[in-house]
Amino acid sequence: MPTLVMKFGGNTLGTTSALEQALRIVLEQAENWEHVLLVVSALDGVTDMLLAAAQRARIADQRGYRRIAANLRSRHLALVEQLALEAPASQTLQAEIDQLISALHDNCVAIAQNLHDELLPRESDAVVAIGERLSAQIVAALLRQRGARAAAVDGAEVIITDSAHGNAEPDLALTARRVDAVLQPLLQRGMIPVVTGFIGATAAGAITTLGRGGSDYSASILSALLSVRELWIWTDVDGMMSADPRQLPDALNIPRLGYQEAADLAYFGARILHARMILPLLERSLPLRIKNVFEPGAPGTLVAPSPVGAPPTLKAVTSVEGLALRRLTGGSLTGVTRLISAALQDTLGARSDVMLVSQSPNSSFLCLVIPTSIGSDGGKRLRRALQAKMTQFPEKLPWALESVALVTAIGNRLNAAPALLADAMRALGDIEIYALALGASHCSLTFALPLQQRRRALLQLHQLIIKSG
Ligand code: ASP
Ligand code: MG
Repeated sequence: MPTLVMKFGGNTLGTTSALEQALRIVLEQAENWEHVLLVVSALDGVTDMLLAAAQRARIADQRGYRRIAANLRSRHLALVEQLALEAPASQTLQAEIDQLISALHDNCVAIAQNLHDELLPRESDAVVAIGERLSAQIVAALLRQRGARAAAVDGAEVIITDSAHGNAEPDLALTARRVDAVLQPLLQRGMIPVVTGFIGATAAGAITTLGRGGSDYSASILSALLSVRELWIWTDVDGMMSADPRQLPDALNIPRLGYQEAADLAYFGARILHARMILPLLERSLPLRIKNVFEPGAPGTLVAPSPVGAPPTLKAVTSVEGLALRRLTGGSLTGVTRLISAALQDTLGARSDVMLVSQSPNSSFLCLVIPTSIGSDGGKRLRRALQAKMTQFPEKLPWALESVALVTAIGNRLNAAPALLADAMRALGDIEIYALALGASHCSLTFALPLQQRRRALLQLHQLIIKSG
């Protein structure tokens, strides 16, 4: 029985015009598909506000977190008012919003009572989860008002994860059981479940989150476990682009990408998709479409198995901050890699991350990708953790730390296209290259460069992509 999962990002829910579009799209697709399931993000900017509230609470700034809670309350209520929900549904929804805001308040009080130097990821997870809970209630109520049988579902009831708070990893076997127990019965009854993205819970019931941008990952896990026909991700741009349109306004839509290309693009910095969401889709050849709510008829981007024999082409360029370690000796890297994994463990939970390594007899260069899923201050946190580890083990001190840019060109079968690789290197002109690597997927060519050359490198590689496209 064909089922469609649609994920709506915060930028498609944050304003009345976008939200109206989103609701219209859901009602239309509910006619076209046997079953429809929705995954929703928090309204645009809400996760950041919640994190700010948790930070205020950490320093026991009661006025600060109360002010943020009041802003969040009025923002959500105003949205509902503008969409003219009728009584009694409007009273019920207002009561639900108030209940969630008071849960936010209680969580902040609890944080303020715990005197830690840093906010614990466990504490911030409980606070940020409120954003998605608010939006799921609103979307479900508005769909019901328009005649659909929709029910808000808490992702914490369904997605069971490990305990790496802030960047947790779902346990597919445990989650599959919850999908059968919680979601299947709703779908069988012809309902539209509106599931909160981004959040899960440990088997013991503690709230976790899947990393920034994690609603995509929730949608991909649920799509895989429900064996759906397709997953559509709705956003406010025309799908995946050849570069970040905020950085390079002449960026073009990419009509089609292979799974590996999409995964590498997300991994090396494109924020439009959560990097870990591709694997569950790839394993099942499940098609993913990324579409613009304001242009629902436009094709957007299709991520699907690469057509056999497609000639190698460069399709996109992306960048992410990297943390580089250098020393003026060669020799074994085991000591420092152990320090790095320990620092990553402290900052990100258990996950290790890809390193570019280059070595010669008298110098070593090692560069880590800072995943976008750990949030905007992730680089700083990782750097602090690494510095602390190095002071703890003074014999490892000769390493100097520096921030670098990792600029990546994405394309298919780059291993079979030496001329394309040469063009990409030539496009960089006189920009100094610290290190470079061809991804094991053969879909990415990554350059470690001085941070201040990031924009120029993006621009020059993008010109090449447009010219050859
Ligand atoms: N609301 C979360 C975030 O801002 C998750 C998501 O939007 O995917 O990171
Ligand atoms: Mg996103």
